[in-house]
Amino acid sequence: MSMALRPLVAGNWKMNGTKLALKELAGMAEGYDAGLRGKVELMICPPATMLYLAAAAALGSRIAIGAQDCHAAASGAYTGDLSAEMIADCGATAVIVGHSERRQYHRETDADVCAKAEGALRAGLTAIVCVGETRAEREAGKALAVVGRQLARSVPEGANPDNLVVAYEPVWAIGTGLTPTAADVAEMHAHMRRKLVSRLGKQAAGIRLLYGGSVKPSNAAELMGTANVDGALVGGASLKAADFLAIAAAY
Ligand code: PGA
Repeated sequence: MSMALRPLVAGNWKMNGTKLALKELAGMAEGYDAGLRGKVELMICPPATMLYLAAAAALGSRIAIGAQDCHAAASGAYTGDLSAEMIADCGATAVIVGHSERRQYHRETDADVCAKAEGALRAGLTAIVCVGETRAEREAGKALAVVGRQLARSVPEGANPDNLVVAYEPVWAIGTGLTPTAADVAEMHAHMRRKLVSRLGKQAAGIRLLYGGSVKPSNAAELMGTANVDGALVGGASLKAADFLAIAAAY
């Protein structure tokens, strides 16, 4: 962790959860208020159908609510899409863009991701830009180059520590139970930090870099204790309040 930065643990619920899941959110809020609040920032990114309810339910608990994707445009003839402005209108304060499941299943390119991130900034949301290499790319020794290129092309010009969070999520670690070694995470996060500073200037030292991919209570402390890891993006283990709070408590 970069000691100066306030850690962020964000939960990505993916396509899981109906309004019944609000009780997990209530459990998280209770645990957060009971002792974690001053130490770590918590965020939940539920499905879009739950954004409004979740933001209303989280009011007062200071758990932030984020969306999982947005369209680049503010409004228009884009059936089925949601703009960053609409997400902000629900009471959410952030949006994940460029998750590998969007890049893979919706063929989103770095340019698409950058345009979405620009939309997020325009609407006053924090963009959580995801990057990460595939297993084949890591085995070919290309992980640093791939992630460096994704960062250069997916992060918009106007990014700063207040409106940008970057999540390093190796594709092969998502939902698989596999994680990179702490040394590999440290190497990648140092690389991302250098790239961001060389492009955005010294202020980029304040941009939070999350690790994501099979984070669970049993490995959170080691991952979170790694240099330049300023938090976690958690999928499966963010669905249950007990697991999510145990990960947050790893700080
Ligand atoms: P996982 O997912 O924690 O279930 O591996 C992480 C993510 O996709 O953000």
